[in-house]
Amino acid sequence: MILVLENKITIKQKNKIKNILSDEGCITREIMDAGRNVIGTIGKTKISLDEFKQMDGIFDAIQIKSSYKLASREFKSEDTKVTIGNVVVGGDRIVIVAGPCAVESHDQAMTIAKEVKKYGAVLFRGGAYKPRSSPYSFQGLEEEGLKILADVREKTGLKVVTEMTSVSQADLMKKYVDVVQIGARNMQNFELLKCVGRMGLPVVLKRGLASTILEWLMSAEYIMAEGNNNVILCERGIRTFEPYTRNTLDLSAIPVLKKLTHLPIMIDPSHATGIREKVSPMARAAVAAGADALMIEVHNNPEQALSDGPQSLYPEQFGQLTRDIYVIAPVVGKHLDFDYLKKSEMINNMEAKDSKTAAFIGEYGAYSHKASLGYFGEEITPVPMKTFKDIFSAVQTGTCQYGVIPLENSLSGSIHENYDLLQEYDLKIIGEITIRVKHALIAHENISKNEIKKILAPPPAFSQCKNYLDQYPGIELIPVKATSSAVKHVKDSGDKHSAAIGSTMAAKIFNMNILEESIEDNPRNYTRFAIIAKEIKGHKKANKTSIIFSTGNKPGALFEVMKVFSEYQINLVKLESRPMLGKPWEYMFYLDFEADIEHPDLAPVVERLQKKAENLRILGRY
Ligand code: PEP
Ligand code: MN
Repeated sequence: MILVLENKITIKQKNKIKNILSDEGCITREIMDAGRNVIGTIGKTKISLDEFKQMDGIFDAIQIKSSYKLASREFKSEDTKVTIGNVVVGGDRIVIVAGPCAVESHDQAMTIAKEVKKYGAVLFRGGAYKPRSSPYSFQGLEEEGLKILADVREKTGLKVVTEMTSVSQADLMKKYVDVVQIGARNMQNFELLKCVGRMGLPVVLKRGLASTILEWLMSAEYIMAEGNNNVILCERGIRTFEPYTRNTLDLSAIPVLKKLTHLPIMIDPSHATGIREKVSPMARAAVAAGADALMIEVHNNPEQALSDGPQSLYPEQFGQLTRDIYVIAPVVGKHLDFDYLKKSEMINNMEAKDSKTAAFIGEYGAYSHKASLGYFGEEITPVPMKTFKDIFSAVQTGTCQYGVIPLENSLSGSIHENYDLLQEYDLKIIGEITIRVKHALIAHENISKNEIKKILAPPPAFSQCKNYLDQYPGIELIPVKATSSAVKHVKDSGDKHSAAIGSTMAAKIFNMNILEESIEDNPRNYTRFAIIAKEIKGHKKANKTSIIFSTGNKPGALFEVMKVFSEYQINLVKLESRPMLGKPWEYMFYLDFEADIEHPDLAPVVERLQKKAENLRILGRY
């Protein structure tokens, strides 16, 4: 049962409820979920649901119908995010766990760890206790293997995941590793589940070879009932009649689980397929189906591997795979961040006085809010602002450390106001993120489309949905600053005949109804956001540079600047001109190019640009 508490509940009332539950012998868990204070209770009580509803301080009492309680969405509607050092499993960023099946030697583990880190893995895996089908096969290096894992973590900064096969290994696990894995063969080893529940380390719980989703969730419940909520469910293939692959990867488990549970989902296509060339296609499919994390076996010399060589990717293949995932993830609203660990380090190195916040336009649920979560994860708090200028001045004055500003959209073009503000303020671009913009038509409950008389949205959103809106010439279009502000406005006004164009995230946050999804003219609707800050901190290498400059008003002046890039074979990716502030008919040029302007090889380029261009300023390298 879950008890939804009233916002104004007193401590005395809450304690009284907790005492009643404990006298009844119930296990209780208090959480905040979607802005509600909730006490989850497990166990039978003589007190009825209606009696609880009558108690002071209780807003509602709801029965949890599923047999798993703590793991269910009924208990907790928001996704659980499992934190492992600086890595969060279950957020907007896809987490890649990679490494060999087994730790074979210090050299082997370290070599592979460096390779997988280079290609985007943020956690390292490797078995030290191997549950093998044959007692004569390699069984793992045991404690020696754990020591190697601890050293890999020390040298590479990658947190480590390893399998625990027996309750007797608990202390060693706590001493050497960051995440314990319960292998497929042990999914129903209830003593082991209870033990990892008490240990407190995050757990990767693999699905048993022949287990149903319900049995799997019940195993998660064993861990959670002991007080450990940090459980990641890992699908690794189940046994079917199909012998071609080692197991059958049940990808449908992803949408099924997303409905049933709030726990994050990892997919292991290596053990699922058992065949190297099948691993990458299934990993790509898993991300497209909504997986939060991937676990991939990688070996530098798979022919000689002591276990699971035939399914281990070569490091370069793993690199190819992560590049594909980078492209696929935004389609489903997620990101693969090749700078994940570097960014976390930068954020951790921030001084106490620094505000760990990022200003964005609109209300919560804005695409800019999503861009902030995609770029920084949960470590930086997004702060809503009313105007773009407010964002720039919040960053300039230090009220917010960062700003997230849209620069251009693939359908509606540039957001000129932000180019002008970049000219006006002396701030730096420290990064960029592109997100897919999938618009929904959002209104109040129980309203149909033909009752809508007004639609609110910012002008670029109207232009991205032009074909859709053209079907309804009678509807009045009302421009506002951001999509999320439109949703909030419709909500607050209570006007049943108004709708907003916005994200499904905004609809969820404001508890509004989606009348229609994907109303943008073209599904390839992407917005590129720049991350702005006062200075560039801790960024050593960059792939891209943004500059602004003006030119003299004489024939070929712009051509002379462009020629420099052509001669040095530097690829330009964006050129935009904007009127110079206060100088009619004179222009500033914004230029993005694919090179790091601070690279020593580019010193002559800078020198020549300084001669050919006027008012040259480097906006950022990232
Ligand atoms: C492993 O991850 O190395 C492993 C043995 O996995 P599973 O338990 O899924 O077979
Ligand atoms: Mn393996």
